[in-house]
Amino acid sequence: MRDVAYVALGSNVGDRHALLAAARDAMAALPGSRIVAMTEVEETAPLGPVPQGAFLNQMVALETTLEPRALLSALHAIERASGRERRERWGPRTLDLDIVAFAAQRVTDAELVVPHPELPNRDFWQRELAELESTVKS
Ligand code: AMP
Repeated sequence: MRDVAYVALGSNVGDRHALLAAARDAMAALPGSRIVAMTEVEETAPLGPVPQGAFLNQMVALETTLEPRALLSALHAIERASGRERRERWGPRTLDLDIVAFAAQRVTDAELVVPHPELPNRDFWQRELAELESTVKS
């Protein structure tokens, strides 16, 4: 089944624009997947207790035949390919990819929670998601 996943991209280490661009290319190359809408890239202040540089963020609407858990595995592989190392929670990262929402699908297990539990706390995710959903539906 084709469905639309809303994936948040974030980077605050290295060539942030290039890392986001490479992540978009890698997502578009996943089996049965294509990017159907994306927000502008925007800079946001880091969240949490660890001092670190500002993030570049973006959200994409990825039409995909992948199931949510298969998509999460693919996103982890893209993170690893970007040189991301195992990191402290809330710490700096070359590339962070989160499944914010996945059409009407709901997932709750040890590895994956969709919609993402941080969605209610992140105004910019809510704004980006609303923008993409209206683009995808129109
Ligand atoms: P992070 O530090 O943001 O990369 O998240 C670490 C872990 O969160 C990942 O290894 C996932 O197993 C888990 N996780 C749970 N729900 C989600 C989601 N909706 N999107 C991405 N990761 C998730």
